[in-house]
Amino acid sequence: MEFHIMTLFPEMMETILGESITGRAQKAELITVKAWNIRDYAQNTSRHVDDYIYGGGPGMLMQCEPIDLCYNAILEDLASRGIGEKPRVIYLSPKGETFRQGKAESFASEPERPLILLCGHYEGIDERVLTLLSAEEISIGDFVLTGGELGAAIIVDAVSRLLPGVLGDDTSAIYESFHENLLECPQYTRPEVYKELRVPEVLLSGNHALIEKWRLEQAEKITEERRPDLYQAYREAHPPVPEKKKRHR
Ligand code: SAM
Repeated sequence: MEFHIMTLFPEMMETILGESITGRAQKAELITVKAWNIRDYAQNTSRHVDDYIYGGGPGMLMQCEPIDLCYNAILEDLASRGIGEKPRVIYLSPKGETFRQGKAESFASEPERPLILLCGHYEGIDERVLTLLSAEEISIGDFVLTGGELGAAIIVDAVSRLLPGVLGDDTSAIYESFHENLLECPQYTRPEVYKELRVPEVLLSGNHALIEKWRLEQAEKITEERRPDLYQAYREAHPPVPEKKKRHR
């Protein structure tokens, strides 16, 4: 899958995403991450990409033109390589829909469709270019960052690890928090006892049916305690089995 990041700080993206699993996925050509420097498309000698805000107010705003030209350069690059699929354009913005696992799954379900991530800076971006690019706004949480780069890296990371071959074991992502609206159950590794704390006996039993039952119960419990919102959605899709039915099984 191709990720194109429009940013004023391309090195930042290369540093974060060039490491660890996303770095290995790039080397293995499972994903392509290309950071495009918006400043390269500034049409003035000082290469500025921002200006004062109409109507007044503090700070500066990123201008339409360099972003629009950068976007067109990405489209040309895609076309030159015969990629006809219309890219999806995301503007990282605190005003956008909050990014969740479901969104990552939906992006990963269309790996042939390039994802263009537009990172704002200063006070944000002139609204008109968002209209021109038909950009979908996505927030990574209810807080304000200095720029969209960390948000873009989060999206690339969360989507990449859902693509086939990116994780060592493709089932890893299925048994994780947020899959089917459950949080992950507690997990343990060696040694069996650490500072008098024992690994739950059932996990050492070798009885896979019992282990699965314990894991599901723990995941349900932790989700109900910590994220009642998720638990409600989970219960709507998985109503509890009535006691009577359980006994007849
Ligand atoms: N003036 C803007 C506002 O009040 O909504 C905030 C601009 S912020 C200082 C600069 C850039 O950081 C934004 O254009 C956006 O790209 C990015 N950004 C900040 N907070 C974000 C968030 N929660 N999610 C995604 N991107 C964010």
